[in-house]
Amino acid sequence: MPPYKEQGVVLRSAKLGEADKIVTVMTQGSGKVRGVAKGIRKTTSRFGARLEPFTHVNLMLYRGRGSLDTITQAEIIAPHRAIRDDLSLFAAGETMLEAVDRVAEEHERNVRIVLLLLSGLRSLEARPIDPAAVAESFLLKLLSVSGFHPSLTACAVCGSTDVQLFSAGLGGAVCAADAEPGAGHVTSAALAFLGALALADLEDAGRTTAPDSRTRKEARGLLFGFAEYHLERRMKSVPMLVRTAT
Ligand SMILES: [Zn+2]
Repeated sequence: MPPYKEQGVVLRSAKLGEADKIVTVMTQGSGKVRGVAKGIRKTTSRFGARLEPFTHVNLMLYRGRGSLDTITQAEIIAPHRAIRDDLSLFAAGETMLEAVDRVAEEHERNVRIVLLLLSGLRSLEARPIDPAAVAESFLLKLLSVSGFHPSLTACAVCGSTDVQLFSAGLGGAVCAADAEPGAGHVTSAALAFLGALALADLEDAGRTTAPDSRTRKEARGLLFGFAEYHLERRMKSVPMLVRTAT
């Protein structure tokens, strides 16, 4: 099999054996790809720090027999170093990487997700006032691209605008008649804040302000509950984002 070229964003890497790593990359043309970088943990490795999470890279790979390819060359397009050097940017960025890792399928091309991720990372590199809001806006856009946009202005079931409850399973805001028992209450302020985050461009999302910290907290809880439900796994970076965000 001849080698193939790809470009993409490194989502994560895990140690393999003594000197190698398995690197997960969200690529432009081949969807999510997992590749072995041989010898990367040796000090003399030609890969150096080129395959760290957040890095936008050009790659040369060999297709493996199973789901693991082999990375033979890596070249940095953008290191996104600022994100790794600041805890609040890092937490927001980790949320993005983790969500993409969750949603993207291996070897299934999805250019929209790659472009969204690059735009999210660029927005964080610009050091927004509120990095967590950028990550939340990103999550809403990623949910949308993946077909799970939450209903925020009208009942997800009947379309009524009299919504005071929220149900991840039913698709977002719901009216009293359609809510299942146990659906949580939601304030119109929290729905409006999430709506503003959903509409904002990622580069402006960090300036989206909630009326008060209680609304901010409520909106975040709803969004992460919704994302968790639909991304079908607890997102490990969420607790960290909650800790570092103001
Ligand atoms: Zn309804």
